[in-house]
Amino acid sequence: MESFDLIVVGAGIVGLSTTWRARKAGARVLVLDKGPTAYEASSRATGFLSLRGETPDESRLAQVAEKLWDTLDDDLGYPTEWTQKGRLWAAVTPREHEELKQSYLGFQKTGIPFELIDGQACRDLVPALSPETLGGIYTSRAGHANPQRTSHAFAWAFRDLGGEIREYAPVLEILTESGKVKGVRTAQGEIHAGAMVLSAAAHNAALLAPLGIDFPVAPVRLEAFVTAPLPPLFDQAIVAHGLAIRQTLRGNIHVNGGPHEWLDAGTANDMPKPTTPIVRNIARRLFEVFPSLRNAQMLRSWAGIIDVTPDQITTIHPFDTPAGLIACASAGHGFGMSPALGLALSDLALNGQTDLPITDLTLARFAALPKDWRRVWNWQPGSYNT
Ligand SMILES: Cc1cc2nc3c(=O)[nH]c(=O)nc-3n(C[C@H](O)[C@H](O)[C@H](O)COP(=O)(O)OP(=O)(O)OC[C@H]3O[C@@H](n4cnc5c(N)ncnc54)[C@H](O)[C@@H]3O)c2cc1C
Repeated sequence: MESFDLIVVGAGIVGLSTTWRARKAGARVLVLDKGPTAYEASSRATGFLSLRGETPDESRLAQVAEKLWDTLDDDLGYPTEWTQKGRLWAAVTPREHEELKQSYLGFQKTGIPFELIDGQACRDLVPALSPETLGGIYTSRAGHANPQRTSHAFAWAFRDLGGEIREYAPVLEILTESGKVKGVRTAQGEIHAGAMVLSAAAHNAALLAPLGIDFPVAPVRLEAFVTAPLPPLFDQAIVAHGLAIRQTLRGNIHVNGGPHEWLDAGTANDMPKPTTPIVRNIARRLFEVFPSLRNAQMLRSWAGIIDVTPDQITTIHPFDTPAGLIACASAGHGFGMSPALGLALSDLALNGQTDLPITDLTLARFAALPKDWRRVWNWQPGSYNT
């Protein structure tokens, strides 16, 4: 019978960051994925680190991630293309402008230097922005990196330490014994470990359900595209008009957002294809923010699934029963948070505790959540958020 100190289910960036940390701490770790390494959300992300100004409870963990990003290239030994040139939320409609002013009130609770600036100040920072820009929120902190490179940098660094990622090895069942986690069942048989991290994004819910655990998460499909490389236009992370936009090191404009569709947990097993009307919607929004991009060539488009929690805040939950089991859902911002999530999850798995600020992020906050929350909020399969 194969046996490890820790089994990590899911070789996305959260699982990979966890395994790398745990392996560095000397643990014997196995990562299992139902498909190739980082083939789902992690390689499809835009690559922002958000400091979570919207959610002060989570912002402290995001600021831990921010510090870890600073040395990540050196720590991993591979480039992530991390750059920290600030983040700008820009409003191009009066409604967006009002919403930003409201958000700013909450942002101030984080202690991070966010500034409310007018349209001209936005255009001074990013001259390519539309003349219609009415105002924005700016912070010189936050940043972005290359999701493909970063995910694989974690995987390579883990393998360099002798770690094993077993691809095309779906976990079929979580095994428990006497109130503790015992291991997993795969098509090849049982594999045992006294600690387990579930980082299978929205798929966590299906793995936990047979244990009688309700893991509140709603999969949602998000679409993205990149343009062909362009001369340098901006290096900040831009959030505007329902889009997240960055310019890559090679000059591509990388954008995601627009309407996104709630999915059935069951259908989240198949990666969805982008749909032309939604890509067109993203393109229209992009031109309204950056009129000069109207002539840019689109290179490729894709879609990905994110694991949205009811309050859109990360969940990290160490279970009392079965002991040794920890589950994570990163609510759509797990890429940027991944260095801190991996550290917290590894600590919890190997030591049963962590000094990182996660106490507000457990499932306890959902004690009063109605069972049919997705129906009540119309977050049901087939509905769209715009
Ligand atoms: C278009 C898009 C843009 C985004 N932009 C950003 C951004 O700018 N900044 C940001 O912070 N976040 C962003 N995100 C969100 C971010 O990508 C995710 O929060 C993050 O990648 C989650 O990582 P993960 O490892 O938890 O999940 P995933 O990368 O989805 O990995 C989960 C893994 O679990 C595996 N798995 C599932 N079930 C099983 C099973 N039964 N057995 C074994 N393996 C299993 C899957 O195959 C998968 O590889 C974006 C997401 C999308 C789709």
